[in-house]
Amino acid sequence: MSEDPPRTEGELRAEVLRVAQAVHAAGLVVGTAGNISGRLPGRDAVCMTPSSLPYETMTLDDLVVVDLDGAVIDGTGSPSSEKALHLECYKRYPEVGGVIHSHATYASMFAVARQPIPAAIEEVVVYIGGDIPVCEFTPTGTDELGVEVAAHLGDRSAALMANHGLVCVGKSPDDALHASLVVERTAEIVHGARALGEPGTIPEKSQQNYAGVYTFVRENMWK
Ligand code: 13P
Ligand code: ZN
Repeated sequence: MSEDPPRTEGELRAEVLRVAQAVHAAGLVVGTAGNISGRLPGRDAVCMTPSSLPYETMTLDDLVVVDLDGAVIDGTGSPSSEKALHLECYKRYPEVGGVIHSHATYASMFAVARQPIPAAIEEVVVYIGGDIPVCEFTPTGTDELGVEVAAHLGDRSAALMANHGLVCVGKSPDDALHASLVVERTAEIVHGARALGEPGTIPEKSQQNYAGVYTFVRENMWK
């Protein structure tokens, strides 16, 4: 959770750019990898980062607006090659207002090992909904990847793309950034805890309580 979603189209566009540069600055991607988007307020349209453009020099004019069928309605560049992945999340979940695909290092280690990231930290259950599942391997940039990943995000804010990376959703791009950072931090902590010994688990009752908080927030405070 973070601040309220932007109310104007201009604010949303500025948030997409700011979050994209924050994703890069936080080291969740290197080079031009990853992609960030936000749903335009009150419209069936999405503002997203262009394909293969460096984040450091990206400007508001470089962002691309597409409708939910993927047709470009504003902008001169090409939308992200993962356009279908983003659009499937928005089409399937009307409450989703932001989507981030990154190649975060520790999360990607779990994605390569094809192991879910266990919800070993209380905050991960509250903010993500529980364990972070691993999707079936599906080639990058395909419609099938979008369908496969979105299917895992009904009661979770994050999913791992096998041998590729991480997708997080939120009520806004800022919120999806927070989810990405929580997942990456949790993956690093679990990896370290496993080096120390057998990690403990949160009791089932507490897991259920925290998951209930996640569901309540998503149903009532997103949008
Ligand atoms: P784009 O630069 O086309 O957004 O692709 C980056 C990426 O991470 C593909 O999975
Ligand atoms: Zn990628």
